[in-house]
Amino acid sequence: MQPTSHLHLGNYLGALKNWVALQEEPDSQCLYMVADLHAVTVPQEPEALTLATREIAAAFIAGGIDPSKSAIFVQSAVPGHSELMWLLATMTQMGKLERMTQFKDKAGKNAERAGLGLFAYPVLMAADILLYKTTHVPVGEDQKQHLELARDIAATFNTRFGEDVLLPPEPYIVGEATRVMSLQDGTKKMSKSDDSEKSRINLTDDADIIAKKIKKAQTDPDPLPEAVEGLEGRAGAANLVTIYAALAGISKEDVLAEYGGQGWGVFKPALVELAVEKLSPITARMNELMADPAQIDTILVEGNEKADVLARGTVQEVRDIMGFWHVG
Ligand code: AMP
Repeated sequence: MQPTSHLHLGNYLGALKNWVALQEEPDSQCLYMVADLHAVTVPQEPEALTLATREIAAAFIAGGIDPSKSAIFVQSAVPGHSELMWLLATMTQMGKLERMTQFKDKAGKNAERAGLGLFAYPVLMAADILLYKTTHVPVGEDQKQHLELARDIAATFNTRFGEDVLLPPEPYIVGEATRVMSLQDGTKKMSKSDDSEKSRINLTDDADIIAKKIKKAQTDPDPLPEAVEGLEGRAGAANLVTIYAALAGISKEDVLAEYGGQGWGVFKPALVELAVEKLSPITARMNELMADPAQIDTILVEGNEKADVLARGTVQEVRDIMGFWHVG
């Protein structure tokens, strides 16, 4: 998760909530990274970057990641990421990077002026993954192409040096990916870059703000349908039902079995109550942690050490295979 600005409900329901569940799987060893080296591919204010780094760590912890079980760490604090990235960059064709749709989208028409960091971003992502011999990476649709490139780079390395050192990772799509849409426009993704604060629920919003935003959320004059098919063509309505289902951990069918035929005057207050019930403990814990940065730092230092031990092992193997000089 990149430390770029406040986390919102889309980040929580579409990513964090699912990632937290992964640490409960038998025999899993999970690493949760604050991707600050990725964040600086677009300019960041130094103070805001530090603050946002701690905020993501706080959200990880408040969202349920257990630091005694999993590593919560900061990418830039583990030097192996940059080092492996460089080594992998020497084996990555520019043509492949040029085909990355995210680069094309982000660079726009002005690709000549885009930074090298933005262009090379998928190589850093490959290093992030391969450094830990990661078997599974929880990604959304938008990152699948980058993951495919990471598999490709691993295969190139292994073929070139005749050793199966880098493990091609598998994408891991957890459950039904929840796509949370803007509260103001159900056809647009809820996003931190939306100018309107009313479009999103931030994880730092209190109960009053959550209630106001949900009350103003886009709907239509019809009552809730009895079946999911009845949500077609009703983007605002569908979004609120999706949010309810994801927060409650039930299906949309179950939501409609309970609320089908009811009006928004009944459903919205129920959604406010549910959202506040589920989000306020997370917000409270995040605020508590943000008021005590030393506590966050202790957890990060511990996580950085766990990650660094694994990362060093892989970098050493790669260095040895490539023939870099070392004593002894
Ligand atoms: P971002 O901060 O946009 O890079 O997103 C961080 C994570 O949250 C990624 O895994 C995204 O796929 C996920 N995410 C962001 N916005 C949404 C949304 N509106 N609905 C569902 N998931 C989202």
